Amino acid sequence: MDDKYTAMWEQLGLDISAHDGLLKVLGQFYGDIYLSQDKRLKGMEYLDFVLSEVHGLRIQELQKAKAAEKKIIGTFCVFVPEELVWAADGVCVGLCAGAEIGKESAEKILPRNTCALIKSFVGFKLAKLCPYIESCDLVVGETTCDGKKKAYEIFEEYVPMHVMELPQMKRDADRALFKSEVLRFKSKIEEITGRQITAERLGGAIRLINNRRRALQRLNKLRAGSPCPISGRDVLLVNQISFYDDPARFTEKINALCDELEGRVKAEEGIVENGMPRLMMSGCPMAVPNWKLPYVVESSGAVIVGEESCIGTRNTRDLVDEGVKNLGGMIDALVDRYMRIDCACFTPNPERLEHIVGMAKELQADGVIHYALQFCHPYTVEAYKVEKALEKAGIPLLRIETDYSMEDVEQLKTRVEAFVELVRQ
Ligand code: SF4
Ligand code: SF4
Repeated sequence: MDDKYTAMWEQLGLDISAHDGLLKVLGQFYGDIYLSQDKRLKGMEYLDFVLSEVHGLRIQELQKAKAAEKKIIGTFCVFVPEELVWAADGVCVGLCAGAEIGKESAEKILPRNTCALIKSFVGFKLAKLCPYIESCDLVVGETTCDGKKKAYEIFEEYVPMHVMELPQMKRDADRALFKSEVLRFKSKIEEITGRQITAERLGGAIRLINNRRRALQRLNKLRAGSPCPISGRDVLLVNQISFYDDPARFTEKINALCDELEGRVKAEEGIVENGMPRLMMSGCPMAVPNWKLPYVVESSGAVIVGEESCIGTRNTRDLVDEGVKNLGGMIDALVDRYMRIDCACFTPNPERLEHIVGMAKELQADGVIHYALQFCHPYTVEAYKVEKALEKAGIPLLRIETDYSMEDVEQLKTRVEAFVELVRQ
């Protein structure tokens, strides 16, 4: 990205030299991890372009939207029903929080043993590094894990926030609580945008976001074949970009990528040699630019065939029912769809175990890597149950706990290589 955006970044209040440092690291990382791959699909050029313009063109689009009196709403969790934002003619962006830069600033106010994702979003704000956060008219938090909900109390000193209370169980009373929170969120969005959410607008938004999910489902189906036609890294990137690109444009581009992929599948053309161990990732979301573990895995003689994660199938598996025509019914359809999310914040959470085993079998995965951020209690603790469920199904598991630093790359590589050797046998 060049100087043509500097004035815009200055206007947004970014720390220009720290931000330059971030872009430099991002560019280097991207070159090593993405552009060095062989046999990439032509359709990935769009994703390369979007990533290269991640703090440029897309931010410019958001500024234009703001000038047209649209509101920008930032979210951190796939529990926030973004359909309500689009229905009020707002723009919803996922705030990524996948980099270590800004950690020092975050650790001035957060305990060091906080998960890297939380430190990242607080650090990005304090160090003035993220043009998305600075573009937001409202940031939506949620009471998923303790670390996040307490960090939001601090975060709201810096940005306008709305926090949704999320249930921790899935009984009728919990659904009722979630529904009341969805309605409170709808009122907040209507208030901030000054637009009423009607059945017609919400129906359109539901179709818009379902179509994006359908394109990602199609991609997941196509990449499941053998030989594997696309790298796991590339599919992760597609999922990451789905959180901040324009949904209609993104859907069109991903469907074009899938058309190309279909040709590759028909020709039985793989991205790696046939017989290479197929691994599935499961666990915490990997936000941009957290590509460390997928890179380690795919440079250790294995290919990633699926991601059981919020930046993966947890976010795309379920659609909102489009058969309902009245507003009340649509709200219920949203509530039902979002209550099916199997985040480790729920207790008990048997659906996630079923999904992991089912997905690993369907993808013919030779093994699963359970990925959790250090200090993330929901996922590190739930890993025990995941391991037991997979053991019962005869599928090997490797548990990894890490953060965003590069210090443990060699150690990770040794463990992953040993696991690849094990599943190969
Ligand atoms: S892992 Fe849980 S808390 Fe994190 S984004 Fe997903 S649903 Fe939200
Ligand atoms: S990774 Fe775990 S600890 Fe970190 S924000 Fe997500 S649920 Fe919370």
